[in-house]
Amino acid sequence: MRSAKAPIETVRVSTFVVPTDGPESDGTMVWDRTTVVLVELAAAGQVGLGWTYADKATADVIRGKLVEVVQGADAMAIPELWAAMSTSIRNLGRPGIASMAMAAVDAAAWDLKAKVLGMPLVTLLGARREAAPAYGSGGFTSYDDAKLAEQLGSWVAAGFSRVKMKVGRDPARDVHRVRVARRAIGDASLFVDANGAYDRTQALKLAEAFREIGVVWFEEPVTSDDLEGLRLLRDRAPGGMDIAAGEYGYDLHYFRHMLAALAVDVLQADATRCGLSNFLRTDALCEAFSTPLSAHCAPALHTHVACASQRLIHVEYFHDHARIEQMLFDGAPVPRSGALWPDLSRPGLGVELKRADAARFAA
Ligand SMILES: [Mg+2]
Repeated sequence: MRSAKAPIETVRVSTFVVPTDGPESDGTMVWDRTTVVLVELAAAGQVGLGWTYADKATADVIRGKLVEVVQGADAMAIPELWAAMSTSIRNLGRPGIASMAMAAVDAAAWDLKAKVLGMPLVTLLGARREAAPAYGSGGFTSYDDAKLAEQLGSWVAAGFSRVKMKVGRDPARDVHRVRVARRAIGDASLFVDANGAYDRTQALKLAEAFREIGVVWFEEPVTSDDLEGLRLLRDRAPGGMDIAAGEYGYDLHYFRHMLAALAVDVLQADATRCGLSNFLRTDALCEAFSTPLSAHCAPALHTHVACASQRLIHVEYFHDHARIEQMLFDGAPVPRSGALWPDLSRPGLGVELKRADAARFAA
């Protein structure tokens, strides 16, 4: 039997800034680049990779706070590592950058442990399903009608049965844009995400209009801080339309409050923010609240954990992140039949950094 412990020998932190392939915006934000903070942990002759989509300040927190805790920690004892990291960031404030720093290290630790054991991460976690159903996500408010129709239509042609678009930048044009999307995707399921752009009254009115165009998912119709507002939408929106939120959840307390407030039909969670460890615990919370779970963004990071989660219904194949993961990582999953399939021939998360390609974006 191999040694039961694998002390982490080195911690490497890198930051990459990747320009978008065009202007991108949603209901409340505009951006033209995306920052990736990558962690590489080495132990027992293996290197584990983890990453988060965050500010470069996240890398500073890893270097300044977490490295001293992670160095020498046992890669096989992830709950112990998690507890030590949680203690070390206590006075920084847990939500936000500190949690994303922990999340990048935590993902690298899971990848490393699976590699040390010589198995795919989904096998280490225990598979619940063979593949993770996914939905194409983009439809930025910066797109004109032709680009919107082309992107969503191409996902449906490629096998996705569900696609998501952004709304909320210009409420007067939203119904028109949703109609454009509907014409492009035929009978496929149409999701909209307002990123909290509407007030309650606007959101209720638009919920009616969107439902007439067959929208079945209304994400963050109001700010996700307004749990009563989400609950109001849930109670008053037309039948057959799921209210979803949760992407800004960094810890279990956040998810418990959202679930206990009966604020969502589907809870979203993002392992690049809450950590793969807390994604698994959030799945258990969802089971206790009889609520489905959907993984937010970062498809390559979520594929394995999604296949191991009891309550998961889908993973968001977010255009911006899917593109970056294909650019930076060899082995990033390519959707097939509208799902993401873990590569069972590769250990861990199944991805390797394309070091030369990534170096172009080093910041
Ligand atoms: Mg969203």
